[in-house]
Amino acid sequence: MSEKVDVLIMGAGPAGLQAAVHAVRKKASVVIIGRPERSAIYRAHVENYLCVNGVTDGHEMVEIGIAQATRFGARLIEEDVLHVEAAEEGGFLVRSEGKSFHAASVIIAIGTAKKKLKVPGEKELTGKGVSYCVDCDCNFYRNAKVVVVGNESAAVDGAITLTKYASEVTLICKELTVSEAMRKPLGDSSVIVKQGTWVKEIAGENAVTGVVLEDDSSLEVDGVFIELGSKGPMELATSIGVQLDMETFSYIDTNKKMETNIPGVYAAGDVAGQPWQMAKAVGEGCVAGWEAANYVKHMKRDKWE
Ligand SMILES: Cc1cc2nc3c(=O)[nH]c(=O)nc-3n(C[C@H](O)[C@H](O)[C@H](O)COP(=O)(O)OP(=O)(O)OC[C@H]3O[C@@H](n4cnc5c(N)ncnc54)[C@H](O)[C@@H]3O)c2cc1C
Repeated sequence: MSEKVDVLIMGAGPAGLQAAVHAVRKKASVVIIGRPERSAIYRAHVENYLCVNGVTDGHEMVEIGIAQATRFGARLIEEDVLHVEAAEEGGFLVRSEGKSFHAASVIIAIGTAKKKLKVPGEKELTGKGVSYCVDCDCNFYRNAKVVVVGNESAAVDGAITLTKYASEVTLICKELTVSEAMRKPLGDSSVIVKQGTWVKEIAGENAVTGVVLEDDSSLEVDGVFIELGSKGPMELATSIGVQLDMETFSYIDTNKKMETNIPGVYAAGDVAGQPWQMAKAVGEGCVAGWEAANYVKHMKRDKWE
């Protein structure tokens, strides 16, 4: 038997938690399903979010967000959603590892899975010199030596941005697959391009000290930026017919109300496209939570009990 809920939020990161705060304060019943420690911000050090004084640990922000959302009455279930489908009688059936809900409205806030290099040292040194976000972390690498790993425009763009901060930027790529328009600013920049090789290991104990390349040569660096594009966990969204953006198919298409093409389904945060920043995730979460609660109010007036 599925439990009825007004707004079911998939994802316990900044977008999901902010959506919960706004939906629950509009008197909707709210369940959040997601694992806070898997939020992209959890291991980050944040200094570009408004009202942060200096640098704040991402996990502290997430924990405060959970306390806030649950204090207002949202319920957090620390599991993954495994299945979602439209219910015949309206709304959506959502199944997690241990629970089953019949939700009037659903908010998808499941972030994006950043592609990993999958080399030794990467996991251990994430947040300690390994980064997946140039815009977030460039300021931590002033006058430092860094490498950017990637073949596509995200890597070239990231490397050029980093030249404004770091003392030396090396782009490591198997083969550049960027347009002529991107090659020109790369050629004009101070980025050192090492083509035809790849990183096979990231070295360091408590902080990155270097990288080992496929030819066994090594570079001493303080930071490794992995820019392999992003892969959205889109299976859940597309399983109920939610439309992705028509050009890249890498994020969920929404309008200004964070509505998707399916009535009652909203999306917010990284899953709804760039920039992958907390400020955007929180703003979109606010709109999605607000709009989902309004949607349920109207639905209740018609047929939802
Ligand atoms: C190393 C790093 C540093 C960063 N630094 C900054 C910074 O300084 N400033 C800044 O503004 N941004 C920064 N970012 C970006 C920021 O973390 C993201 O933009 C933000 O976390 C997006 O929030 P979100 O809620 O959309 O997704 P996330 O925070 O990624 O949360 C996704 C949530 O969805 C859940 N989820 C996934 N799949 C399922 C499923 N099947 N069922 C249920 N739940 C699911 C996860 O468990 C998680 O709780 C950084 C990111 C990284 C990786």
